[in-house]
Amino acid sequence: MEDLFGNNYPSSSKNLYADIILPVPIPLTFTYSVGPEIQEEIGIGYRVMVQFGRKRILTGIVAKVHQKAPEAYKAKPILDLLDDYPIVNALQIKFWGWLASYYCCHIGEVMNAALPSGLKLSTESKVQMHPDFELENPGYPMDERELLILETLEKKEEVNVDQLESVVPAKDLHKIIKSLLGKKAILVYESVKEKYSPKVEVRVRLAPEYLSDSNKLNELFEGVKGKEKQENVLLKFLQQVPIFKNAQLNEEGLSKKILTDSGCSPSSIDTLVKNKVLQSFKVKISRFALIQVDDKPIELSEVQKDAYDAVQKEFTSKATVLLHGITGSGKTEIYIKLIMEVLESGSQVLLLLPEIALTTHLVARLQKVFGDKMGVFHSKYSDNERVEIWQGVLSGKYNFIIGVRSSLFLPFDSLGLVIVDEEHEPSYKQYDPAPRFHARDAAIMMAWLHQAKTVLGTATPAFETFYNAQNDKYGYVRMDKRYGDAELPHFHLADILKDKKKNLLKLDFTRLMREKIQEALNHQEQVLIFQNRRGYAPYISCDECGWIPECEHCDVSLTYHQYQEELRCHYCGFKDKVPIKCQACGSSKITTVGSGTERIEENLSLLFPEARILRMDLDTTRSKYGYQKILEEFGSGNVDILVGTQMITKGLDFDRVSLVGIVDADRILFYPDFRSGERAFQQITQVAGRAGRRNVTGNVVIQTRRPDQLIFKQIISGNYNDFYQQEMGERRQFYYPPFVKNIKIVTKHKDFKTAETAAIQLKNLLSDIEGRKIILGPEKALIGKIKNLFLFEIWIKLEKNANTQERFKQEMVRIISELQGDKRFRSVRFLIDVDPY
Ligand code: ADP
Ligand code: ZN
Ligand code: ZN
Repeated sequence: MEDLFGNNYPSSSKNLYADIILPVPIPLTFTYSVGPEIQEEIGIGYRVMVQFGRKRILTGIVAKVHQKAPEAYKAKPILDLLDDYPIVNALQIKFWGWLASYYCCHIGEVMNAALPSGLKLSTESKVQMHPDFELENPGYPMDERELLILETLEKKEEVNVDQLESVVPAKDLHKIIKSLLGKKAILVYESVKEKYSPKVEVRVRLAPEYLSDSNKLNELFEGVKGKEKQENVLLKFLQQVPIFKNAQLNEEGLSKKILTDSGCSPSSIDTLVKNKVLQSFKVKISRFALIQVDDKPIELSEVQKDAYDAVQKEFTSKATVLLHGITGSGKTEIYIKLIMEVLESGSQVLLLLPEIALTTHLVARLQKVFGDKMGVFHSKYSDNERVEIWQGVLSGKYNFIIGVRSSLFLPFDSLGLVIVDEEHEPSYKQYDPAPRFHARDAAIMMAWLHQAKTVLGTATPAFETFYNAQNDKYGYVRMDKRYGDAELPHFHLADILKDKKKNLLKLDFTRLMREKIQEALNHQEQVLIFQNRRGYAPYISCDECGWIPECEHCDVSLTYHQYQEELRCHYCGFKDKVPIKCQACGSSKITTVGSGTERIEENLSLLFPEARILRMDLDTTRSKYGYQKILEEFGSGNVDILVGTQMITKGLDFDRVSLVGIVDADRILFYPDFRSGERAFQQITQVAGRAGRRNVTGNVVIQTRRPDQLIFKQIISGNYNDFYQQEMGERRQFYYPPFVKNIKIVTKHKDFKTAETAAIQLKNLLSDIEGRKIILGPEKALIGKIKNLFLFEIWIKLEKNANTQERFKQEMVRIISELQGDKRFRSVRFLIDVDPY
């Protein structure tokens, strides 16, 4: 017999086994035996209940069905099959397996990340009477409350622990259960319960007899004469549901809420339901409001047409194409055309966006074209909303998903196209928890599993991507013109040090920058100001002795937030009061140093008191619709200046932005990381790209202490290739990606020495693995302590050879699990980061 996924096994077999993925930190799947009663049904992707270890009952997912008994242990039987159909498909399981092996994590961790918790099963303790126990003959003396519980259990076969709270006070329940367990009077076990609850709406409709017979309806109105409230309900109902025009409308009914919202009394509705005039019923409704579709087709420009054709041509020989189009070149319309085509062919499409870009015009534009056929998967969605998208993909309601990196885990079964927009975005990399995957790379892998195509779109390709395009691994299509010949912005470099000497630097702003802002304001044009640091001031410091307050739990200085009047740690969230006196020397001369977005906002309001200013950073966008509100307000034109962190670089498209100001380019350039040049090029180019679209020619002012640097010339001339060549020379010379494969391992422990010793030991063992490599460290991490744990880092540079890499990773995982078996290192955490960012 062959199941849905092509697993072959004889249906009469007695020795069937299933490998189960379990939500526990073990490296591999576990094999269980499949009893005859479920042999027919079981297959990949089904949820099962199994016993793990001596006591735990866990829910897992079937990864494989086969006939090979495990060698190392005797297979326990699967206790129960939980579904009538698989909840994940074979391609997903393959994808999970790839993620686990490529990123060196446990497949259970991947499963945990992949399933919305609404689909995971929550374990809830249930209680039942012990089968050997007799209430008449308890063997032990029972107190009154214990007897109460036992009597309840005698009446019901099993009871949830929380249900017993109505029998005895909750605070004592635990103790009593423990005592009863000790007396072998009861059993406690974990059972499973679905968490997902669809949103339901209560509706009412007219009882059917009133439809067929108009006399009865007249009688009805006679009957409620004088009962104004009931009459009102009926009139309102008939207004909203014109059953005389279309009797079928009654079937769908009307939301009770619509009636009460329009002034009907809820109790009158209930009375009518009780009197069988109205019927009340419930329907599951979508959490997502319907969207009006406006499918006025847009004509592609010649440049866009050529690019579109070029992408299609590249697809004939390449699975992945890099679409390298400058900001404003109109990549979105090309995406739309590609998406439509794939959807028409019946395949699914996934468009990945960086987190922050999800509430921008791009989504609005796509929504106009695809309406409610498109599912949006946002990381700020509630779990129920996620489950609904998940079910929508399963049922075929959504063939097109636009979402953040975790949308890669949705249950697609026939992807035809994956698009990764802004593929260079560092936020595509997941830091914590495992799997520490890069969504772009994972997307390419997933597309490959589906035999689908991938488009990587960006104005500033990641070096890894451009390298692959140069080496013919990816197809390459370039667009060098803005749509509608909108002009590229003019760049100006403003020398911070020069202005400082001449006393022209006012509140962080050079004269040039101030003039350009004033100019834009005079013309009623909008301004974006970019500062890559949130809070008011990066830190505060004592003028006398230089003391700087630091986090108690981390190796970082605390950031000053003026609005809340407090110091905050951006790594662990620790908060502290602002000291009045220096804690080292007692001086009260405490000053703020440097400027975050909060202070820049304040400075601007001092420099331009007439301007309306808004700030967009992590602190102002925490709420679910935070970004959206700020973007809408800015888009409405009621705001002159928007100050923000890199959030403002993402996909803003506002016609009236004529100036972009970068307050401190050096902060981006001099970050100690081999990617800092690449990042600076990307960030500055992206933020500059927001200036001057369509009718306005834009200006970009970059403030720096080092205007002579070559990178500025390259950014200004838009010369990506030159910049790339130069940086690649260095990367080749010093063995950086893409010339080597990087793996970072961090050891974490509350004791400094233990974290260090574990790292040293690990390095020594890793050095013995075959294959060309360089291992650096261990070194204290850049931030050596976070949340009271000390961090040591090892960097591995591996040669670019698939065999070497695979072997190294396997050995590395084995070595780490051995180290963890060592008593000294049992509580050390080893974090593996493949392709760290
Ligand atoms: P990119 O994503 O490449 O930076 P967009 O797709 O946002 O560029 O397009 C830039 C601007 O040009 C947008 O305002 C978009 O509405 C407009 N645009 C692009 N293509 C067309 C077209 N074919 N017809 C009309 N407007 C277009
Ligand atoms: Zn901290
Ligand atoms: Zn001091």
